[in-house]
Amino acid sequence: FRLADEQHVLSASLGISVYPDDASSVEEMLRHADSAMYKAKQEGANSYYYFSNDLQVEMTKRLKVGNCLRNALDNNDLVVLYQPKYDLVTNDVIGAEGLVRLKDDTGEFISPLNFIEYAEESGLIYRLGEQVLEQSCIDAKKWLDAGYPKKVAVNISAKQFTGISLVDTVASILEKTKLPSRYLELEVTESALIDNFEQTIKQLQAIADMGVSLALDDFGTGYSSLSYLRLFPLDVLKIDQSFVRDMISDSQSLDIVTAIIDLANSLSLQIVAEGIETSQQRDKLQSLGCAIGQGYLLGKPMPFLEMMDVLTQAKNKGNICT
Ligand code: C2E
Ligand code: CA
Ligand code: CA
Repeated sequence: FRLADEQHVLSASLGISVYPDDASSVEEMLRHADSAMYKAKQEGANSYYYFSNDLQVEMTKRLKVGNCLRNALDNNDLVVLYQPKYDLVTNDVIGAEGLVRLKDDTGEFISPLNFIEYAEESGLIYRLGEQVLEQSCIDAKKWLDAGYPKKVAVNISAKQFTGISLVDTVASILEKTKLPSRYLELEVTESALIDNFEQTIKQLQAIADMGVSLALDDFGTGYSSLSYLRLFPLDVLKIDQSFVRDMISDSQSLDIVTAIIDLANSLSLQIVAEGIETSQQRDKLQSLGCAIGQGYLLGKPMPFLEMMDVLTQAKNKGNICT
């Protein structure tokens, strides 16, 4: 269409529901067609999608998760668990990663794998990101005040580099919680760096200038472009858990792990291996020169108070570190 001398290109997404297989009333037909249309849009638009029972199950689940997440955000009811990170040589706890959980109506935890995508699509990720960041900073400040100066790492989704300013959010939360910036680390994935190159690099630079450190998460699974390592102000590389899982049985995974560790060491980046489940994996990683690790073998994600106990026990054992 030409409107006021400008060309507007429209696309159409079609949702199809078939009578009488899918529904018996007009309202139900429309609702199902609407769900199917939503799916068509999600699949990249300009396409069509037939309603199915599987789709209905998916949509119902989505609706439930969405309501649950909205409630949790309104009531500040998200839970942040902490997974300790260890120095693989000295066994000192050097910090922890904050991992968000949502409680369902029975009080069971819902994994972020089931709601982060929804949060991103619905725009709720900004409020979620802010609440998780604030809770993590409050908790790290409590560790600090109790005599445990440990870094807390917070996951940041690619979407948070667009829209509401991440830089302002980080600055105001650090000020509000009085956590010194050196105790905060942000974990970002490569997709965050690629999606919005110019905008992201500026924001990361501003965040690094505040004294907050930056980790590249899931390294090895995406583009793993070497130029990013140079262009972005990164401090830490995190080896993705899929390589750690397979490194003992699969020589290719071991080669990748070795290469990433060597790369990080030669670029003076800290290296963290995630998903360590066996002592064999831990010993191998340590012998390859990987300094820091996290995983079920060392500690599962746990509530704040349990994390406090871990820090106390580590201190009592004489593993005091700053
Ligand atoms: P991630 O950042 O790669 O986090 C590591 C995931 O591996 C966590 O899953 C953790 O519980 C799990 N894990 C840790 N050790 C082991 C292990 O030894 N074996 C295995 N199999 N798994 C291990 P979780 O907590 O379910 O989080 C999944 C993903 O959700 C995270 O992956 C992260 O990408 C995202 N996420 C979590 N919290 C947040 C958040 O606050 N904001 C955003 N944007 N994303 C988050
Ligand atoms: Ca992470
Ligand atoms: Ca990861």
